Amino acid sequence: MPSMTKRDYYEILEVSRQSSSEEIKRSFRLKARNLHPDNKNSGDEAAFKELAEAYEVLSDDQKRALYDRYGHEGVKGSTHSFDNFDFSSFAGFGIDELIESFFGGGFRTSRRSGPEPGSHLQYELQIDFLEAVFGVEKKISIKRLQECEECKGSGAEPESKTITCSTCTGTGQVQQVINSWFGQSIRVSECPSCQGSGKHIEKPCRGCHGIGLLKKNSDFTVKVPAGIDSGTRIRVPSGGDKGRHGGGFGDLFIFVMVKEHEEFIRDGENIFIKQNISFALAALGGEINIATVDGDKLLKVPAGTQSGTVIVLKSLGVPRLNNPSRRGDQLVQLNVETPIKLSKEERNLFEQLAQIRGERLGLDKEEKSDQKEIPKKVSGKEKTKTDPQINKMDNSIIDKIVEAFKSKADSV
Ligand SMILES: [Zn+2]
Ligand SMILES: [Zn+2]
Repeated sequence: MPSMTKRDYYEILEVSRQSSSEEIKRSFRLKARNLHPDNKNSGDEAAFKELAEAYEVLSDDQKRALYDRYGHEGVKGSTHSFDNFDFSSFAGFGIDELIESFFGGGFRTSRRSGPEPGSHLQYELQIDFLEAVFGVEKKISIKRLQECEECKGSGAEPESKTITCSTCTGTGQVQQVINSWFGQSIRVSECPSCQGSGKHIEKPCRGCHGIGLLKKNSDFTVKVPAGIDSGTRIRVPSGGDKGRHGGGFGDLFIFVMVKEHEEFIRDGENIFIKQNISFALAALGGEINIATVDGDKLLKVPAGTQSGTVIVLKSLGVPRLNNPSRRGDQLVQLNVETPIKLSKEERNLFEQLAQIRGERLGLDKEEKSDQKEIPKKVSGKEKTKTDPQINKMDNSIIDKIVEAFKSKADSV
């Protein structure tokens, strides 16, 4: 064996010297799963062997004590010979099966009890914004494998005889003995000849071609809880396919997708809405009806409201999932609309108002800043072009939220 500096066992397992045996075991499982030969990306034979050796010592109280006192010298010769162990013989083993057979020594079998359940199924359920807020019951219909009624799941015509499978002598399973450094292990898998049923059917059922299962529609009523958000998964136990040879049903997973609303923008438990108000309303204050998920509500606009002001309507947001009595808020952003076209009368009133308030609309010649710095061609029209941009900056919070939601929806 080439003389190599051996790494510290604790370091390999990334645990401290004070770690409990549970912590060591947990770390080993995690690392073994990564390095396992079935793991195409991270499977690593050398590292796996190193890890196995470290675990063999640290999982044994006596060996661990010796290692703690004398280091690698203390446990020399008491570990398995890892150099001769055939890593690839583990391919196809589940890691838990593998760990089961680790260090236990001797002869072990792992046998699944009973036939396997059917596959899990997925379903995408689209619901409206308000349905997500308040919850809803939806009827869905999915196609899934169920027992064939003609043969009651046996796969055979009524008068058909069944013959015991010769490959597995009726057990439905075949065994394979695997020898490796930790001893013998038996791998049990489904019999390829009879697909695990243990028998062959003389006359297969015509309805299901001997499979015993058929795709049929099933109806489910799905209770979507209040406060659900897009991407949430609802599990319907036994809503999936029926398993073969009497195996149970898999599960059904419903992925809820919430449609966007024209006015309401959701951010977790809060709901945002933009509301335009007039000049006069902003200045004088008053009342408006504002749309909420609970219907229109009276909103008092305070006198002197600035454009962009956000008013919080407490507890009119989205109910908390699984605790619907607690609700988020609705946030109303008020935007003051500047009139674009003015009638002659309106223009006069604005001019009067400006006069009363002592607001001058122009400047005397001597008050004007250095004209050389301003290009003469700047007209009033071009100036007003910049004003809406300033307003847009006031709206940036809402716009950012809208943006955030859009990009979220795109990436899903
Ligand atoms: Zn059938
Ligand atoms: Zn068989």
